[in-house]
Amino acid sequence: MDARYHVEITRQALAGRMDEIGLQVIVRANLRQDRLATLLGHPEIHFDASAFAAGEAYIAEQRRLALSALIDREDRLAALMAFGRLLHGRQDFYAHSNWAALWVEAHGGLERCGPEQIEPCLNPLAVKGLISGAGSALHFLACRVPLYGRWHRRHLTPADDHEIMNLDHPGRGPLFPFAMAAAVKHSRLELEILLSQLVQADGNSVLRHFSSRSS
Ligand SMILES: [Zn+2]
Repeated sequence: MDARYHVEITRQALAGRMDEIGLQVIVRANLRQDRLATLLGHPEIHFDASAFAAGEAYIAEQRRLALSALIDREDRLAALMAFGRLLHGRQDFYAHSNWAALWVEAHGGLERCGPEQIEPCLNPLAVKGLISGAGSALHFLACRVPLYGRWHRRHLTPADDHEIMNLDHPGRGPLFPFAMAAAVKHSRLELEILLSQLVQADGNSVLRHFSSRSS
């Protein structure tokens, strides 16, 4: 997903639930996941290459880090950063997988359903036919060579490559708004999950500490 849409999804999902400083930390940590060091060779961070089990494990680990930062050390900054990293993967899942395509197909096609109706994917491991694109530096670069790139995309790029499958921006077609809407819903759900685990672990004082600096 392109950076501006990670920002848009995150802000929309957390509107009214997080103070501005917290939001900025979360957004920065989210966007940092697309730096070179965590972009190449880390399909679990971006839900690439159908690495669904590894992607879920990464998200669970970031959630655990957020909880322990708050509960053990009252380190709000570390908790917000872990949550931002977690949201990046959650949002990339919808841009990199065929979840939106499968969901639209199962609901009668584009004429019969709207983006606002799409459901989040709660367990990618249980969805038949679900795949996500493999990232390849070779195809990424080749598809961007002037004149040649279009031919390479059409004839030499595998159907399950990120270049063919991604819903990273509106130019990728009518499924993009479905990916956005599902990513917003699931990001909101991730906040609910984290907050409920915080309450379970340590009551409302830690909960307030996470969502707002002033209380
Ligand atoms: Zn990414």
